[in-house]
Amino acid sequence: MAAVRARINDALTVAGRHPEELTLVVVTKYVDALIIKELIGLGVEHIGENRLQEAVRKQAVLGDLKNRFKWHFIGSLQTNKARQVAAGFDLIHSLDRLSLAEALHQASRKLNKEIPVLIQVNVSREQTKHGVAPAEVGAFYTAVRKLSGLRPVGLMTMAPDTEDPETSRPVFRELRHLFEQIKRDYHPGPEWRELSMGMSNDYGVAIEEGATIVRIGSAIFSAGTEG
Ligand SMILES: *Cc1c(COP(=O)(O)O)cnc(C)c1O
Repeated sequence: MAAVRARINDALTVAGRHPEELTLVVVTKYVDALIIKELIGLGVEHIGENRLQEAVRKQAVLGDLKNRFKWHFIGSLQTNKARQVAAGFDLIHSLDRLSLAEALHQASRKLNKEIPVLIQVNVSREQTKHGVAPAEVGAFYTAVRKLSGLRPVGLMTMAPDTEDPETSRPVFRELRHLFEQIKRDYHPGPEWRELSMGMSNDYGVAIEEGATIVRIGSAIFSAGTEG
């Protein structure tokens, strides 16, 4: 954890950015609730999980301690799970289709909530990846904005899985470009401010390219939480 934080701070310094501009989401899909509990003492405030049932189970084990964190849902989501995810998460990173947007909107209205969401974009255009096609992001954003149960606050992407972080740079750059394009074309309010990009192997590059949220798992847990 200390090593990752140090590298994040280095990347921020190199990019001339302030630490308050970045949220570290610790991805806990590899570990159980007892390890998540230890993260409180390490000052972790944001948890990311990609499987709903697992996450809900961990939250149940944590009990009231779960409220010490903001919960980020980062995985692909079935429409019939919208109610559960709307109830248990603070930010959904993986909004990738209109049917899901509508289901989340309905669930959110029933809970009297307005859930912040990120639109997942398939920038790398890999067939195996989820996400809205880059050319369709503007139209998708417009449709989501009409749903009163949802508050679109930015974009998310997953870069191709490679060893070389430089491979991710053009992907991150394009996501930022799409983000700016929406800002220019649709004039969202100040809530339009999040770029969720960068994982263990490429978060330095993501920070240089303007990430406001990085999602890091294995770099923290393979070294141990003390690391
Ligand atoms: C697992 C996962 C991460 C974290 O990946 P690491 O390489 O372990 O840091 C980030 N984002 C999503 C969507 C994930 O599923």
